[in-house]
Amino acid sequence: MSFSPRLEVDLDKITYNTAKIVQICQEQGISVLGVTKGFTAIPQIVTAILEGGVDGLADARMENIIELRKAGFSVPITLLRIPRLSNVDTVVKHSNVSVNSEITVIQALGQAALKIGTKHHIILMVDVGDLREGILTEHVLDTVRRIVKLEGIALDGLGTNMGCFGGILPEYSNLNILVQLGNMIEYKLRVSLEVLSGGGTSSLLLVEKGEIPKGINQLRIGEGLLLGTDTTNNRNIDWLQNDAFILQAEVIEVKAKPSVPIGNIGRDAFGNIPEFADVGIRNRAIVAFGKQDGYIEGLIPVEQGVTILGASSDHMILDITEAERKIRVGDELAFRVNYAGLLSVSQSRYVKKVFRKDQIWLS
Ligand SMILES: *Cc1c(COP(=O)(O)O)cnc(C)c1O
Repeated sequence: MSFSPRLEVDLDKITYNTAKIVQICQEQGISVLGVTKGFTAIPQIVTAILEGGVDGLADARMENIIELRKAGFSVPITLLRIPRLSNVDTVVKHSNVSVNSEITVIQALGQAALKIGTKHHIILMVDVGDLREGILTEHVLDTVRRIVKLEGIALDGLGTNMGCFGGILPEYSNLNILVQLGNMIEYKLRVSLEVLSGGGTSSLLLVEKGEIPKGINQLRIGEGLLLGTDTTNNRNIDWLQNDAFILQAEVIEVKAKPSVPIGNIGRDAFGNIPEFADVGIRNRAIVAFGKQDGYIEGLIPVEQGVTILGASSDHMILDITEAERKIRVGDELAFRVNYAGLLSVSQSRYVKKVFRKDQIWLS
């Protein structure tokens, strides 16, 4: 492999993770949407997720969904970010379902769908406490009453989102609000809902423990199947692989240097005043990967004894004093990525993406 930096993607691990998640969800009557926004919906990865058996795909961005359609993916795709009023024509044309919380937008989606002779399906998002998107529970009944009158709209069900803005943990109690609302809608409006969409990766823990409320029948999973982690619950999911994505970057300098810069301190390249602890002379490496290439705080060195000290736009500085091997110029250092790291490196044009399947490097 000559190109550096590069993101190595193990497609088999992603398929494995997906299949495991699909299996435990299926056992409890829950379908799984594979969420593709964490890696800009790169087609090879999307294929790996589909091979794991998901029931559909979901992405937050129409640009990604349009690319997937162009690439020939014909599975149902749900738009995960509530649509812009200015964009409803595109939404109804390319996505099967979108999540929504504004009646004005839902009406416009209905109009747009009628114009092209279809019905647009929606999931009405309910805010059960995380305070990102969604209508408040006390407004659900009225809103549903208005939605079911719209000709161009099919209301598939209710959904909620947690752990994203407020960091609220999914629990039996807050997810069960969705089930109770579904029952109320059925009882009072005689409308039965097909879908109760109970969140993303952070809801998997409840599935594992058998504590997810009966009636929740869909999850939208990204982080878990890609990285095998669950940031909201602060855990590695131990029955999943957590190294499907590895970033490799090349060492361009290795030297022993003092741990505190010499001279009067001004500002660093980003205008901050740096602070350093004096721990004596340390072995340091510089790799050719900086803030312009990706989000440094989203990287985790794979090797024991290697720590990231910081970065400027084109250089990352690491302490390698405790490393187990002798690191030389021209070597590569490997990094795992967290969700924010994956977001940034997958869309970085400075990072080459390479894919492995059945132990063989593609491309
Ligand atoms: C991103 C997103 C998801 C997926 O979340 P993960 O934590 O990656 O599983 C699910 N639902 C919505 C609405 C999202 O925006």
